[in-house]
Amino acid sequence: MLSLARTSQARAAATAKAKVRVAAACRGVGTQAPWKQRGESQKQRQRQPQRDTETEETQTQTQYRPQSRRIQAKEAAALGGPQQTATSAARYWPKLETPKHAKRFTYHDLDGAEENGPVSVAWTDKFLFVEDPATENGRRTLKPATLRDSCACPRCRDTSSGQKTFSSVEIPVEIGLEHVKPTKKGLEIKFLNDIPRFVENGQEHVMVLPWESVDLSLKRKGMEDVRLPRKRSVLRRTGVVYWDRETIAQQVRRIDYAEFMKDNSEAFWDVIIDICRFGLVYLKNVPRDEESIVRITTRIANIRETFYGRTFDVRAKPNAENVAYTSGYLGLHQDLLYLDPPPMIQVLHCMDNSCPGGESLFSDGERVGRLLWPFITRHRMAPLAEHHVPYQYGKNGYHYFSSRYVLDGNTAGFSNVYWSPPFQGKYLSPVKDIRQWIEPARIFASLINDKEAIHEHKMEPGDCVLFDNLRVLHGRNAFDVSAQGGGSRWLRGAYIAAEDFLSRAAHIPKGMAEKYRGEQPWTPGLAQHRLKQSAWHEDVVRMVKELDPGVEA
Ligand SMILES: [Zn+2]
Repeated sequence: MLSLARTSQARAAATAKAKVRVAAACRGVGTQAPWKQRGESQKQRQRQPQRDTETEETQTQTQYRPQSRRIQAKEAAALGGPQQTATSAARYWPKLETPKHAKRFTYHDLDGAEENGPVSVAWTDKFLFVEDPATENGRRTLKPATLRDSCACPRCRDTSSGQKTFSSVEIPVEIGLEHVKPTKKGLEIKFLNDIPRFVENGQEHVMVLPWESVDLSLKRKGMEDVRLPRKRSVLRRTGVVYWDRETIAQQVRRIDYAEFMKDNSEAFWDVIIDICRFGLVYLKNVPRDEESIVRITTRIANIRETFYGRTFDVRAKPNAENVAYTSGYLGLHQDLLYLDPPPMIQVLHCMDNSCPGGESLFSDGERVGRLLWPFITRHRMAPLAEHHVPYQYGKNGYHYFSSRYVLDGNTAGFSNVYWSPPFQGKYLSPVKDIRQWIEPARIFASLINDKEAIHEHKMEPGDCVLFDNLRVLHGRNAFDVSAQGGGSRWLRGAYIAAEDFLSRAAHIPKGMAEKYRGEQPWTPGLAQHRLKQSAWHEDVVRMVKELDPGVEA
């Protein structure tokens, strides 16, 4: 049951992804990448409504218009209807006039740390208008029902859980504004027609709209300035260092286990920061105890249990249920790509590693993915981002399946790299011709497997490695348990899901995250730009040229 559900879910997700991709491809014109073009136009589209006519009646804004009616109206207009001259954006998201009778004030927090300057506020019983007098960012109309829904006062949000004490459907649709006044924390709002049970028996209900929300509405602050448990939001603070053999050797840290385990220790946050920046960090002096893996992992977040167990043992054994549990060479790969999503963090604690061989191998897959990303607009390279590679596990009563592009992304740019040859599934119907994919996939393979790209380290007992499975590919050299003098190799492992890790990483103390990053916040655009300036880029161009001579640097 479970496996079937997973499979159909994965398929549905894959189909949806494919549709987005096709849509993106259709939008793309000219030589520039389609997502870049779309990025531009999206911004313009967002801005347009405020710049256009302001004649629409205030009243119409309160009416809800389903998407289909919008489309019908547009069609009517195309047929010569009365709205022919107005753009659809201006027609449906008009900038509201501030009515003459509106009450007004300007707030300026003179002694506060507010760097964004004064805000002009106007309000009627139906709307709250905020405006930045200093810029042309326009005026925003905040809606009473939406404001009411976001109230975070102790009566609306449980003070211990932070959860809502009312349901959005309780808000009367005719809710309005009775009073608005500025305070240091934000705009204090009293509602007309508030949720009855909040105001019965003469009770007062007052909401405070934080200035941060006002700044977000005015776009004086971007969503990227809000601390969210999203990868991009976290990396913006920590920065990212893409690496090859030499650069990681200089910068990778081995942090003391006892320091890492201490409450509120800087060493703990250093581990989190290094996972974000490098996707790789070591602990040393870890006790040789089977429970150490649990202690280390749960120091960060809850464990992501899989069908391999809450924790797992990597050692050679007969009839292994995973190729990792043999003594052979294991090429660079990511774990569990047949799960959706695959776990983000992998923790491996070395218990024994006394036999010859068995060195751990790591390569920065995202570095290679981002270096190749600009070339996927080329016909010969496109299969890396368009061909679905199947991943599957189907033994011992389990059945998991997912399919992934080697280079995944969307209109906003590169998002992930997926590469795991030993765990690929079968093509259910070999009608598909994978030859077009093989050649660019070889370029990817040779870049990640380049001797200069691979960080090799023989883990000693007491070592523990933590790495980002969604970014860094890992593998190991063969080892010989039958060698003279005996010896054994035993690692214990556990995973953490992305959402659990990012929930933790969102709390990296202010100042610590930025300490290593430098002045400029990390953005994907900046990352792509810097990679293009790097010496690696030339190697990539050379290799891509062998397949596609027309390519330009
Ligand atoms: Zn409230």
